[in-house]
Amino acid sequence: MSDPFVVVGADAAGLSAASKFRREAPDREVVVFEKGRWISYAYCGMPYFIAGYVDRMSDLLSLSPSEVDERGIDLRREREVVAVDPDAKRVTVEGPDGDRSEQAYGDLLVATGARATTGPFDVRGLDGAFTLHNMDAAAAIDAYVAEPDAYDPDRADVSAVDRERVERNATMPAPETVAVVGGGYVGVEVAEALTERGLDVHVFHRSGHLLSPFGETVGNRVEAALEAEGVTVHTDAPVEALVGDDRIEAVEVGGGSDGDAETVPVDMAVVGVGIRPNTDLLEGTGVDLGPGDAIRVDDRGRTSLPDVYAAGDCATARHAVTGEPDWLPLGLTANRAGRAIGATVAGDPTPVGDIAGTAAVKAFDAEAARVGILDPEEAEAAGFDPVSETVTAGSRSGYYPGAAETDVTLVADRDTGRLLGGSIVGTDRAAVRIDTLATAIEADMTVPEVERLDLAYAPPFSPVWDPILVAAKVLNGTLED
Ligand SMILES: Cc1cc2nc3c(=O)[nH]c(=O)nc-3n(C[C@H](O)[C@H](O)[C@H](O)COP(=O)(O)OP(=O)(O)OC[C@H]3O[C@@H](n4cnc5c(N)ncnc54)[C@H](O)[C@@H]3O)c2cc1C
Repeated sequence: MSDPFVVVGADAAGLSAASKFRREAPDREVVVFEKGRWISYAYCGMPYFIAGYVDRMSDLLSLSPSEVDERGIDLRREREVVAVDPDAKRVTVEGPDGDRSEQAYGDLLVATGARATTGPFDVRGLDGAFTLHNMDAAAAIDAYVAEPDAYDPDRADVSAVDRERVERNATMPAPETVAVVGGGYVGVEVAEALTERGLDVHVFHRSGHLLSPFGETVGNRVEAALEAEGVTVHTDAPVEALVGDDRIEAVEVGGGSDGDAETVPVDMAVVGVGIRPNTDLLEGTGVDLGPGDAIRVDDRGRTSLPDVYAAGDCATARHAVTGEPDWLPLGLTANRAGRAIGATVAGDPTPVGDIAGTAAVKAFDAEAARVGILDPEEAEAAGFDPVSETVTAGSRSGYYPGAAETDVTLVADRDTGRLLGGSIVGTDRAAVRIDTLATAIEADMTVPEVERLDLAYAPPFSPVWDPILVAAKVLNGTLED
């Protein structure tokens, strides 16, 4: 067949697209190239694997290669797409031995994800220094933190794992003190995981509060939750260097009042300072890029190149509040866009959907979530006049066991009353409440409309006035002033 649907990348976006396409267009060929050995894995579960909440690495896998084959998808692992020729509608594919071949496409989906950035740090050159952006790293971290004689090799029970790397880390003496570099959501999850593994955990965050995109109220409460479990949180504390010859020995931290860097001895570091989209294969094609240098796409996931789509962590999506392209790489965004593109290419045009940066994270018993635009400067740059209020409200009727204080922040536009964003933090099912706000933002609701929502009330679940309704009531009062 001459017009296969070719997909680059075999995880959330790529396999969602291939599977949907296969069902909708059973007569057309679909070929998926994956540069690594892993497919259909859950990055999001890696911190919980390291923590020990998940027993086996295989529990994090969704589809095996043979299950993908059974679906009628032509999966080719260890095949990296290194170039795209949009005029000839061909891709160049490189195998493990450097052998190259060409593959024609009718439609092409770039679902190559993102990779960890390491800033100025030489993470690969130092034993005990890691990023956490692939499954091999998760397996290596798990092996490194175990005492050599206590490591259970069955934990990494997947043939795709880099066994040599795991075994090497398993033989090293177990670390006692770890620097988690970066207090974003991955850093917070890693801090919990490594505390659970018995390490003395230090989190270093460049700015004044953890979880910058979640706002200060959330950041401060998550910091308190981590510290209550023994984590030391250093804010306004940019790590400037990883120190060590073969194995990491210390981190150098700036931000001190005397301007001198402080040296903190550690025997492990996990660097989580950001990611960047994988777009190298499109170099030289002239494809339009957008925010974060991600591949700019329209509402159907189409790039500026004919018959070339992009989805997931490598692509932009339209922001539900601003209506502009944005880059907020998250799991549902990837799965949803991939599935929509699979349908579109099969002949059923389907929008990829807007994004609102809806995200949730836990730190021990504290749950936090955010959606939309919280940062006043970001709101102003988008043409809004932001007004915000933060309330503390009970999660259940006060007399019902388990009621806990929940902080809700809402941000609205003063002129229109439109809800722009919100965050929630608390210990009693706080995070899932964000979905009410995500729905309200998607529906362009105003704060008075949110205040009138008919949310469920029963003492075990919520007080009469759900914390979100309390926050909307207070913000509405401010808007009316
Ligand atoms: C530790 C961690 C925790 C996370 N937790 C959450 C969470 O709780 N909630 C949430 O929403 N999101 C979370 N995420 C983000 C989520 O995992 C990503 O948004 C999602 O995996 C993106 O899917 P994707 O298919 O776009 O990219 P990926 O999952 O990165 O898959 C891309 C695939 O493409 C392959 N590839 C790349 N280039 C090529 C090439 N040139 N040729 C062939 N193959 C190629 C890669 O090897 C990879 O397998 C987390 C991420 C991490 C790292």
